[in-house]
Amino acid sequence: MILDGKALSKKILEKIKIYIEKNNIKRHLAVVLVGNDTASKIYVKNKKKTAEMLGIKSTVIELPENTEEKILLETINKLNQDDDITGILVQMPLPPHINKEKIVCAIDPKKDVDCFTPENVGKLAIGAEPYFYPVTPQGILILLDYYKVPIEGKHVVIIGRSNIVGKPMAQMMLKRNATVTICHSKTKNLENIIKTADIVISAVGKKVVRCKMVKYKSVFVDVGISRDTNGKLTGDLNWESDFNNFDEVLSYFERITPVPGGVGPMTIASLMLNTLVEHVSILSLCTELFLE
Ligand code: NAP
Repeated sequence: MILDGKALSKKILEKIKIYIEKNNIKRHLAVVLVGNDTASKIYVKNKKKTAEMLGIKSTVIELPENTEEKILLETINKLNQDDDITGILVQMPLPPHINKEKIVCAIDPKKDVDCFTPENVGKLAIGAEPYFYPVTPQGILILLDYYKVPIEGKHVVIIGRSNIVGKPMAQMMLKRNATVTICHSKTKNLENIIKTADIVISAVGKKVVRCKMVKYKSVFVDVGISRDTNGKLTGDLNWESDFNNFDEVLSYFERITPVPGGVGPMTIASLMLNTLVEHVSILSLCTELFLE
C-alpha cells in the first residue's frame, strides 16, 4: 500500500545517470545559498552530491548572511548570462533583508529549474507549458502515476497554500481533471472537507491530520516534514492517535507515502529530471520507466 518514493526515486536517478552517460549530455546546475541556515546547507549539499553522482556538473555559490540584495542580483545576472550554466536554483529561505520576489524575478525563466519565476508560474496558472514544472508537485504526480492512482474526476484536497507546494499542486491537479479543494490555517471545518477527499495531499509541517479524519481507503500524500519530541523525522499525519502501528495505518489507506521515504526523495529526483528538460521529455522518460 506504500507509495514508495525512495525506491522510485532510485530507479529514476539510475535512469538519468545512464541517459546522461549514453548521450554525453552536459548540464550544469548552479545553486545559490545565502546565509547560514543549517537545514538549507544540508539540502544544498544533498542536491550537489546527487547531481554529481549522475554526471551533472554542480556549482554552489555561498554568500554570507549580510549579502546586499544588489550583490545577489548581480550574481544571478552573471549566472543567467553564463552559457555553461543550464539551471539556477536559489535556496530558500533568504535572509529577511532581501526581497525574495525581486530575486525570483531576476532568474532567467529558461534556467528556472524550481519554477519560481513569474513567467513559469504564470504559464502554469493559465494551463500553458512552463519551461519547468515545480519539483515537489511534479514528483508527487510521477509517484501517483507510477502506482496507477487515478486522478481524473477525483476529489483532491490539498492542505497548505504555499507557492512551492500547495498552489502549483492544485494547478497541476486541475490540469489532470481532478476536482480540487485547497485548505489552510483559516479553513473552517477542515475535518469535514478532508472526509470528502479521494486523495489528500498535506503540506503543512505540523501534525494536523489524524487517520480517522480521512475517508477509509483514500490516498494520503504526506509532504510535511517536522521532528517529533525525540528528534525523529515525521510527517503531517498523526497516525499514532488512531493506530498502534504503521501496518494498521497501511490497511486503512488505499495508498500512503511514508515519511521519510515518500515525497522527499521524489522531490530530488524531480529536480534532477528538470536539469535534463532540454534533452528529454520527462513524460517520455517516465513512461519508459512505468512500462518496465
Ligand atoms: P509553508 O509555507 O510552510 O506553509 C504551510 C501551510 O500550511 C500554509 O499554507 C498554512 O496556512 C498551512 N497551515 C498551517 N497550519 C495549518 C492548520 N492547522 N491547518 C491547515 N493548514 C495549516 O508550506 P510549504 O513550504 O509548502 O511546506 C510545508 C511542509 O512541507 C513543511 O514541513 C516543509 O518542510 C515540507 N516540504 C517538504 C518537501 C519534500 O520534498 N518532502 C518539499 C517542500 C516542503 P496559511 O497559508 O493560512 O498560513
